[in-house]
Amino acid sequence: QQRNEIMHTLKPTVKHFSPKNLKNISMKVRPSIKILQSQGLGSRKICEEIFWNSEIFRNGVLLNPETDEISMGDHLKIDGKDYEVSHFKYVLLHKPAGYETSHKPSRHKSVYDLLPKHYVSRGLQAAGRLDVDTTGLLLFSDNGQFIHKLISGKVGLRKEIEKIYIIKPDLPVSEKQMTSLLEGVYLEDEPDEVCASQVELLDDGRLLMGITTGKYHQVKRMLAAVGNHVDGLHRVQVGPYALPDELLEGAYLEIDPSLVLGS
Ligand code: URA
Repeated sequence: QQRNEIMHTLKPTVKHFSPKNLKNISMKVRPSIKILQSQGLGSRKICEEIFWNSEIFRNGVLLNPETDEISMGDHLKIDGKDYEVSHFKYVLLHKPAGYETSHKPSRHKSVYDLLPKHYVSRGLQAAGRLDVDTTGLLLFSDNGQFIHKLISGKVGLRKEIEKIYIIKPDLPVSEKQMTSLLEGVYLEDEPDEVCASQVELLDDGRLLMGITTGKYHQVKRMLAAVGNHVDGLHRVQVGPYALPDELLEGAYLEIDPSLVLGS
């Protein structure tokens, strides 16, 4: 008897929708649609279409659009294509020659043509530029803080972002040229001397050189300033990110931003 009374007092609570909530229910955009939009998948209309009509696997399980939501950090397979849902993207590209680091290239293709469309539509930008004939490592992100840290050249109080290049020189590099590069050279229209952070003559006659500043055509102008000329330029490292040997020209991979942003 006593037990029955308790059961009666524990009636399930009835949820009432206030007029305000009712309005929200009919007007509110589903969070999933906004998330899909933030990933660069298209307009709200297109993302609604994707959400309701595509086959979406969320973390390996078929999504039911009536009841399920997409969250940051999810792995999605939409109509067979993979997407990692994230606030920001961080990408390392092996740039081939013949591509301009520009959204509006003047005479060549754009490096952005080498990345998936949805990366570009979500606002991925290159951290600095490589000349059209330069190959190698180019970083991209849609996180302004990450780009700023790389371009400003300073990660922490002491750590500088060093960029390392392999240079194919026109003429054999002399000891004197290497010393001048290390001690500093004047470039036209630059008030201060610029110097290499390291130089090393490789067995095949190419020169490995590091710089921590990022002036316009800096490496080519530095070599010209010591009486040589760059015949080929390839970037192998920016700060903590090295170009992996196995990454083919034109290919890209996602990188860990904590090496620059901290964790
Ligand atoms: N310095 C150059 O001269 N060119 C590049 O592409 C990068 C650094």
